[in-house]
Amino acid sequence: MVESGDKIDALLHETRRFEPPADFQARATISDAAIYDEADADPEAFWARMAGELSWFKPWDQVLDWQPPFAKWFIGGKLNVSYNCLDRHLEKKRNKAAIVWEGEPGDWKVYTYGDLHREVCQFANGLKSLGVQKGDRVAIYMPMIPELPIAMLACARIGAAHSVVFGGFSAESLRDRINDCQAKAVITADGGYRRGNSFPLKATVDEAVAETPSIEAVVTVRRTGTADDLMTEGRDHWYHDLIKDQPLTCEPEWMDSEDMLFLLYTSGTTGKPKGVVHTTGGYLTGAYTTTKFVFDLKEEDVYWCTADIGWVTGHSYLVYGPLSNGATSVMYEGTPDYPDWDRFWAIIEKYRCTICYTAPTAIRAFMRQGEEHPRKHDLTSLRLLGTVGEPINPEAWMWYWEHIGGGRCPVVDTWWQTETGSILITPLPGVTTLKPGSATRPFPGISAEVVDEKGKPVGRGEGGLLVITKPWPSMLRTIYGDPERYKEQYWSRFPNIYFTGDGARTDEEGYFWLLGRVDDVINVAAHRISTMEVESALVDHPAVAEAAAIGKNHEIKGQAVAAFVTVRKEIDPTDALAAELKQHVTKKIGAIARPDEIFFTAELPKTRSGKIMRRLLRDIAEGRAVGDTTTLADPNVIQKLKDQYAETEE
Ligand code: ATP
Ligand code: MG
Repeated sequence: MVESGDKIDALLHETRRFEPPADFQARATISDAAIYDEADADPEAFWARMAGELSWFKPWDQVLDWQPPFAKWFIGGKLNVSYNCLDRHLEKKRNKAAIVWEGEPGDWKVYTYGDLHREVCQFANGLKSLGVQKGDRVAIYMPMIPELPIAMLACARIGAAHSVVFGGFSAESLRDRINDCQAKAVITADGGYRRGNSFPLKATVDEAVAETPSIEAVVTVRRTGTADDLMTEGRDHWYHDLIKDQPLTCEPEWMDSEDMLFLLYTSGTTGKPKGVVHTTGGYLTGAYTTTKFVFDLKEEDVYWCTADIGWVTGHSYLVYGPLSNGATSVMYEGTPDYPDWDRFWAIIEKYRCTICYTAPTAIRAFMRQGEEHPRKHDLTSLRLLGTVGEPINPEAWMWYWEHIGGGRCPVVDTWWQTETGSILITPLPGVTTLKPGSATRPFPGISAEVVDEKGKPVGRGEGGLLVITKPWPSMLRTIYGDPERYKEQYWSRFPNIYFTGDGARTDEEGYFWLLGRVDDVINVAAHRISTMEVESALVDHPAVAEAAAIGKNHEIKGQAVAAFVTVRKEIDPTDALAAELKQHVTKKIGAIARPDEIFFTAELPKTRSGKIMRRLLRDIAEGRAVGDTTTLADPNVIQKLKDQYAETEE
């Protein structure tokens, strides 16, 4: 008997394969699969070897202490993250670009490693002068300007843990996050630029800190010139005044490997965000190693991660990973559609970017706008592409490969989470044969498996729950102030095994295919269907730009598939097209997944980090009050969708 809930059906069969290009492989940092064997044979030794490439003030005594579900890595070791990202590069790279920053209005600025070191030290001294000390927490609520990574590195330098709160969040969200960790100071800016307008931040901070007793100081960077009359005597300080007369150097604190480096709230796709705690030695080892190998970093690379630093991707792959490797990291303040949909490609052309790491949601938006935008720019500097954030639909992968990579650049689809700290499932671009839509294999030293409800590995080709079976250095240590929730959320499903919350399957060759969140799986007549596969079948149709599949309660089948679909520019969303799309899904992945309902919409509800919130779509489809929307990018989308949906149901 098929027990419902045991496994997830695997329906999508993608057969395209891409070997590493010969010239890429010839120069790749890792071009030999032996590294997997080395790491498998002794993961602790592998991670210790990688940690040894960092600079430690005092070496560790023990690599791992594992008291499930609590891990400690590099016990007894002392180091400083800002020292690893800055000081140790000064001798050879003082004048190399560390951060190449572009503002949305078109202003730009380059910080060399020397510049960045100087300003981080000055700001670190400034924070100390305000009474911020080792062990304190500092909230950071800023636009994507260079002072944001500077603030993070300054906190790291003096041993204060940062909590970056995405600059698009409301005063209440900021207030709650400050109170959750009892932050002593907030670092902000008067405002930032987004889609051609300035948006205020300092005013929002003022509203938040009215109800945060722990805050003693607010530091404000002047960016938009909109807060000059908002400064409260005694509490508020201008960033430029604070750093002006500070010494140019600041001794880095000797931090214990297990001291907290930062806490960060998850995107909140499934519910209330969790305050994920990351520590110093293990986290940096993970961020450093994965950046080096997954992005094949070379001395001359110009590396661009488009993520906002408000999300973990910005932490690990815009700041700590690239800087600990001594790389040049590009940072952009604004949106991809300002002043037009070719902004990203203009930036790549302007700075001759060689590596670009972005999200599937952005790629699908670019697909929708058409190929003419990338075609306007010279993208030949690119040699490697990456994606993160959601499963990438094979058609979006192909579009990225062809129209951005010019068919020459490997695409690394990287699976990981805020909780994992660094990439866990990914190709190594000089080694791995790529399959569009697959994140391929666990990174060396990572043990991932797909299991059924009882924790038993499912066979190759079958879908189930993705788990990580061994501790890894950059894993979260707890949820801030809530170890019970930490245990419950990640470790209660299977003893001593980390449950990711995502579904996956492996294929005959052991490649991993992410199937989306387990909570989103659709149950049709005792079959469990992944949202990802239905969505990929829809996006495979030339008229479709983006799709979200959900299960809607159904009297006979349990659930029926309903799909919310956004069509490409200049396509008419007609009934005939809806019928054609249903047929297309049947043909691609089978009648069992055929949507009962196709609902066309111009926009889908997404988190601030661009992930589709399927739980809200389920609420709409089933006519319930919609759940928590505080992490939604645009709350208006929900009301519009509700109204439209109600109309068609009548
Ligand atoms: P919350 O946990 O609060 O619901 P969230 O899971 O969206 O929020 P993040 O940690 O930012 O918060 O996102 C991690 C999740 O993103 C993963 O669990 C997975 O569902 C998805 N994801 C990230 N990268 C990939 C990828 N390459 N392929 C498939 N899914 C991915
Ligand atoms: Mg999550």
